[in-house]
Amino acid sequence: MIVADRVCKNFGALQVLKGVSLEVGRGEVLCVIGPSGSGKSTFLRCINHLEQVNAGRLYVDGELVGYQEKNGKLYELHPREAARQRREIGMVFQHFNLFPHRTVLENVIEAPTQVKKLRKAEAVTRAQELLDRVGLAEKANAYPAQLSGGQQQRVAIARALAMDPKLMLFDEPTSALDPELVGEVLAVMRELAQSGMTMVVVTHEMGFAREVADKLVFMDAGVIVEAGAPRDLLANPKHERTQAFLSRLL
Ligand code: ATP
Ligand code: MG
Repeated sequence: MIVADRVCKNFGALQVLKGVSLEVGRGEVLCVIGPSGSGKSTFLRCINHLEQVNAGRLYVDGELVGYQEKNGKLYELHPREAARQRREIGMVFQHFNLFPHRTVLENVIEAPTQVKKLRKAEAVTRAQELLDRVGLAEKANAYPAQLSGGQQQRVAIARALAMDPKLMLFDEPTSALDPELVGEVLAVMRELAQSGMTMVVVTHEMGFAREVADKLVFMDAGVIVEAGAPRDLLANPKHERTQAFLSRLL
């Protein structure tokens, strides 16, 4: 589903991604860990083309992200096509960014009705199914401010799923939550993984990574230092930088 081949990204003189290569198969869950500033968010943002890569190639579902290739040369994709690519990918951030003046249900149907031009009745039925799936069927008419952080994050997940994404990206989805609210969000993500969704999750939740991820990568300073099966990597990190990072977490 995702193929990154020596992906590089810089902001001016600052090299943030220095040749990141990895693959995520359909239905797989990849967890990404690493210190602050190592490029985790930037990598996620490249996958859904919120950032454009400067070198290397990044494919999602067989398509080059943000570019078109002709006779071995890359050309920027038409904005309409780039927008289509982005629509096919769901993203959940640390801060849920719900529309504060809209109800939970209105938040979830916004993109399907406005962007996909789905009929409202259809969008509402689907939204109710999704809210039920994340355990919030009763909160459809509540406003975001009336919900806990964990509930708001579950709404954000339902909202992303409402666009029927082929891939879901999570950027530290539980980092802003009170500890007692983390579990309910991880439970929804775990269920989503079990349903076969392809996911890339930047997280510090090692229990989740160990139990749910198919692959774990440790990033530092814009490179993948170490990658492997989560249990192996966590129990037996080979690289000294991985060891140091993990020992700080415990
Ligand atoms: P954290 O764990 O703190 O979220 P991260 O691994 O997600 O860190 P990134 O947000 O990807 O790190 O940032 C990597 C580096 O790129 C940082 O030095 C950051 O300051 C820089 N950076 C990120 N976005 C931009 C931008 N739009 N313009 C300039 N520099 C940026
Ligand atoms: Mg980040």
